[in-house]
Amino acid sequence: MAAPSHRRSLRSRRALVVSAAAVAAAVGAGVVVMNANAGTVDLYHQTLAAKDGWASSGTGTTGGTKADAAHTFTVSTRAQLVKALGSASDTTPRIIKIKGTIDANTDDAGKKLTCADYASGTGYSLSAYLKAYDPSSYGTSKLPSGTQEKARAAAQTKQAKNIVFKVPANTSVVGVPGTGAGISGGMLQIQNVDNVVVRNLTFAATEDCFPQWDPTDGDDGNWNSNYDSVTLRGATHVWADHNTFTDAPHLDSANPKYYGREYQIHDGALDITKSSDLVTVSRNQFTNHDKTMLIGSSDSEPSGKLRVSIHHNIWKGIVQRAPLARVGQVHIYNNYYDVTTLNGYATQYSINSRAKAQVVAENNYWKVPTGGKVAKLLSGDGTGAVKGSGNLVNGTVTDVVAAYNAASSKDLKTTVNWTPALTSGLETSAKNLPTTLATTTGASVLK
Ligand code: CA
Ligand code: CA
Repeated sequence: MAAPSHRRSLRSRRALVVSAAAVAAAVGAGVVVMNANAGTVDLYHQTLAAKDGWASSGTGTTGGTKADAAHTFTVSTRAQLVKALGSASDTTPRIIKIKGTIDANTDDAGKKLTCADYASGTGYSLSAYLKAYDPSSYGTSKLPSGTQEKARAAAQTKQAKNIVFKVPANTSVVGVPGTGAGISGGMLQIQNVDNVVVRNLTFAATEDCFPQWDPTDGDDGNWNSNYDSVTLRGATHVWADHNTFTDAPHLDSANPKYYGREYQIHDGALDITKSSDLVTVSRNQFTNHDKTMLIGSSDSEPSGKLRVSIHHNIWKGIVQRAPLARVGQVHIYNNYYDVTTLNGYATQYSINSRAKAQVVAENNYWKVPTGGKVAKLLSGDGTGAVKGSGNLVNGTVTDVVAAYNAASSKDLKTTVNWTPALTSGLETSAKNLPTTLATTTGASVLK
């Protein structure tokens, strides 16, 4: 609780003087700086609790809670966010409070940018691209190359420069309660850095203006997009908590088809790849999305990393990858999966364990609609493990691993090489999760 100003001690008066100087400097730089209220644990200074999942191991996850006043920012525009993030290699602790929704597709003056703005000057046009790589003339054996592919890549680079936000080490990015805080159309990139907290934010409408055609992807080719709302690459000690992830307002059902395949403008919601490690994903809502959470981007990621805890999240209207786990030791507990088709998002599976992933899935709750198949809640390649216990389907204890294995030729292994120890909030019954998580997850719950 913050002390009323008339009772402020001499020490905090001094802190305010320092802060005032920082405010003056920062206002000149176009960034609003707030006083860091040291000594009280407000929302912005909260750290991951002891034993709360893999991100609590070792040095734990404190984010930017040691930030001084000069590195405590409140931002409401894209340009302010970029400035507050600073250099990706600057490890000075920083707290970034996001007030309201930041539209990533805006220029430095706040003007809205469209896909046409990014394409301008590159020579790219979708109609020319479609003509150049039509399978009937270009074939299906190689990736697009040549003038239009170069132009597409150039346009994509322009958009990336605008919408990708690189988060440095020792940073907390937290939404200001009551402001509808979040990022629309952007990607938070947490790459090769340690100790990051992301909380109380709505991530929506992360869209690639320039999907790439890959005729060699799958049996019929695929359109692939570049951006996850939050992407972890080689990141360690990351706590993603109380966020909401959604494709809205442009849902996949509105995607056109080209070459008979869905023109997919979305990639992941929260991807954890390239030897990222020690991650806790808690009390988020994932909704209206297809490829939601990748843990490991290739079957050949090295072993010993990709350790992730996923607990007390709601997954609703998710097609797949909730998560797709590779290689690592992954603990999935106390989640609520509603696999009812929502807005055209029809679930293919919830959890996929492949490339020798060691998944422990316990005390989760699945809501499966009439006619839904319990055998399809999981997926695997025959090398991944899921050790399951205490999972409920529509309120009844169900061995979801046995149900999958009975129906599949690529059985999940049922034992794992580890026992979760960092489980401070684990509930031994999943029974009440549909009710309790409804009011304790996602953005705008925290005060
Ligand atoms: Ca991705
Ligand atoms: Ca089988």
